[in-house]
Amino acid sequence: MTAEERLDPERGSAERRAFAIGLRNRFRGITVREGLLVRGPAGWGEFSPFAEYGPRESSRWWAACLEAAHQGWPEPLRERIPVNVTVPAVGPERATEIVASGGCATAKVKVAEKGRDWREDVDRVEAVRAAIGPEGRIRVDANGAWDVDTAVRMIRELDRFDLEYVEQPSATLEELGEVRRRVDVPVAADESIRRAEDPLRVRAAEAADIVVLKVQPLGGVRAALRVAEACGLPVVVSSAVESSVGLAAGVALAAALPELPYACGLATMQMLTADVAAEPLTPVDGYLPVRRVEVDERSLEAVEIDAAPWLARAAAAAEAANA
Ligand SMILES: [Mg+2]
Repeated sequence: MTAEERLDPERGSAERRAFAIGLRNRFRGITVREGLLVRGPAGWGEFSPFAEYGPRESSRWWAACLEAAHQGWPEPLRERIPVNVTVPAVGPERATEIVASGGCATAKVKVAEKGRDWREDVDRVEAVRAAIGPEGRIRVDANGAWDVDTAVRMIRELDRFDLEYVEQPSATLEELGEVRRRVDVPVAADESIRRAEDPLRVRAAEAADIVVLKVQPLGGVRAALRVAEACGLPVVVSSAVESSVGLAAGVALAAALPELPYACGLATMQMLTADVAAEPLTPVDGYLPVRRVEVDERSLEAVEIDAAPWLARAAAAAEAANA
């Protein structure tokens, strides 16, 4: 297959199928996760940029899909990946249940949800510490919602329960850097990283101690490894809430990183109401296995949609990549 055929989703012999899977809870304003699955000589790849992403942005997601389908991934350095359980902005009782049922040694607790009192965050993190035990790790994620002073005050308040790190306490790099200089808890950049050059900006601005990387927006496992190396900060691999096919690429990145000091945000299968694999990539005892994922015909048929609009998006992404 020529490079041109690989980039052109209308050509070549690969199988292409589109899916739409419901989300258990609204996420980024959506209730359904859609994407295209492509089968190539190396296996299945997923192309699932969010609806608002245009061809240029989507071209990296397409590159990640092609890598999975046609090239495969680098040799893994580990057999399983530690993952965190995510605790949404729920009450303390529900938070306790989620941590207890997750089997993970690390919990990510959502904080700073709009319209909620800050004391609810304190109560939630306190409940999570009680549930996960003194050895468990707790990180909080503010999704950029705090201003600098609020971030500093809240991080100090929540660090009573011993925080591993705080993810995106504020929105901008300047704010992250200021928060970082004023607290002892490490700061991780998530929303600040949306494209390959962003981790380098984070590093240059001394805005974070840790970077959260996702495979599809960065253009594939190899591209993400290069970004990690150039950036030189510890990496937490996170998903874009993909099907198990897309998640497997995140697992491959986590498996290939020279160092993996933190649990990854790849236990997102439970956010979806179905999957395209017979054996979904769900954690066992807080770990995901490092493996390829085979699409199961019956599972896929149950969530399959017309592939034509997705092929058009892929073609536009491929064209933007060549432009
Ligand atoms: Mg985050």
